[in-house]
Amino acid sequence: MDHYLKFWGTRGSCPVSGSQYTHFGGNTSCLEIRYGANLAIIDAGTGILPLGNRLLKEGIRKFHLFFSHMHWDHLIGFPFFKPLYRPDVEIAIYAPKGDGRAPKELFEELFAKEFFPVDFSALPAKIEFCSMQPATPVRLGDLAIECHLAHHVYTTWCFKIKTPKEKIGYATDNEVELPFDEGFVEFFQGCDLFIHEMQYSEKEHLERKGWGHSSPSVILPFIEKIQPGRWIVTHHDPDHTDRDLHEFCQEIKQKTPVPVEWVYDGAVIPLKE
Ligand SMILES: [Zn+2]
Ligand SMILES: [Zn+2]
Repeated sequence: MDHYLKFWGTRGSCPVSGSQYTHFGGNTSCLEIRYGANLAIIDAGTGILPLGNRLLKEGIRKFHLFFSHMHWDHLIGFPFFKPLYRPDVEIAIYAPKGDGRAPKELFEELFAKEFFPVDFSALPAKIEFCSMQPATPVRLGDLAIECHLAHHVYTTWCFKIKTPKEKIGYATDNEVELPFDEGFVEFFQGCDLFIHEMQYSEKEHLERKGWGHSSPSVILPFIEKIQPGRWIVTHHDPDHTDRDLHEFCQEIKQKTPVPVEWVYDGAVIPLKE
């Protein structure tokens, strides 16, 4: 099978490990999108470590890596992504600007010697920073990847991935705003597959308003509005154990007519060829 999505990291905020996390896993955000010969990666949380190892084994040397934003959970696996340490590797990076700072500047800071032993400029791989703008899809063969501003703490992207057969929405960090942002509704309307976080319970959300994540009371009406074919929940809170997530899933299934599932590290969803 070479047309699929693979979730290499489904945890939000901070990686976790322990017997209470064995089902959903503890690696932070990383999604592989494979459509025949075309490959895209979204985010470089700790899930990108096993993905990098697998892709090197496959002999892949060219990578298109999209970043939703630069919070730790989406970036912290990047210095440990083994393809960076090979001179025959080429990596195209697409990332939103920070608060007035170019992505390259933020990467250089990540590799400052106080944080990491290898300087960014000394990495053997050829790294290119590519521009990406909302409403202008990046085309990789049959894949088209488009970004839209999410409602998060600073400039953050969510994505829409189009194949010739399906539309997939992907938003790991988004606090749905009420009333809805019409542009946001339009962007995701009619997705076959909608991957969107619901990191907080209502109680947690009350304590963490403005932290950029959603709870049932904001995301459920949004799901009703855009009517996706299927809803996949990712970016699980580090405090939520396997038991908590199973219970959360059962509770939400009673509240939405849209098929919903909680995704886990290593999950593969086939795409239509
Ligand atoms: Zn996050
Ligand atoms: Zn974030």
